[in-house]
Amino acid sequence: MPRSSVDYATDQITVYRYCPYNCAYCYVWRNKLFTSRVVRGRYDPVEEARKYLRKNGRTIVVSFVSDPYPPEEAVRGLTRRVLELLCRTGNRVMVLTKNPLIPLSRDLDLFINGYDAWLGTTVITLNNSVAAVLEPNAPNPWLRLEALKIAKEYRVGTWLSIEPIIPTIPDLLDIIKYSKDFIDYYVLGAFNYPKHLGFNLSREELRRYYQYEIPKAIEILESYGKKYFIKKELKRYLEA
Ligand code: SF4
Repeated sequence: MPRSSVDYATDQITVYRYCPYNCAYCYVWRNKLFTSRVVRGRYDPVEEARKYLRKNGRTIVVSFVSDPYPPEEAVRGLTRRVLELLCRTGNRVMVLTKNPLIPLSRDLDLFINGYDAWLGTTVITLNNSVAAVLEPNAPNPWLRLEALKIAKEYRVGTWLSIEPIIPTIPDLLDIIKYSKDFIDYYVLGAFNYPKHLGFNLSREELRRYYQYEIPKAIEILESYGKKYFIKKELKRYLEA
């Protein structure tokens, strides 16, 4: 079973081996070596999901290095089949998508039937113009948040990945404040490999920004009584 390379989960399943969103900060799909590894690493995601029928106590991300809801999902329903299996296992399933409107409209039954399935999205800015440049093919961040707000009305477990946190986009605290009433769990992550991705940011600039801004974010999250997770790369900046 694929162990997770993200530290807030134990396992991950990659359903589709491409991603339609073309985010400017995505290292996986902008690095030839990573891309070829993901494309070559073939396994049947439905069979992978089936193996969890014999496992428990896991937290499984669907999906980390690609989005689980590309247009192809409407025809193939692969993610749906993976989730149907995983939900039956009793393990925690954390769905991460740039388009939570799709599972909300098609797969809501899997999130509200007493299963431990959480619906999550990534938001790194509240500015639609910035998002249009950095996440050109994704629904705008307000639509993503609106989908999770609706999910919460159905008592779905919701989570928000704020990653990468980019110093030139000072929206972190506003994202938390805006979403606090409908997000249960937050994951905060650093901006990895900015130079390779064409962003002119030094480690020192990142360190200074994170040491200034992340404690404020933590204080706000704790004052709201929110559960959160600081990813290890970000923690390293805080400890440096
Ligand atoms: S949605 Fe995720 S996997 Fe897809 S390009 Fe964006 S950051 Fe990469």
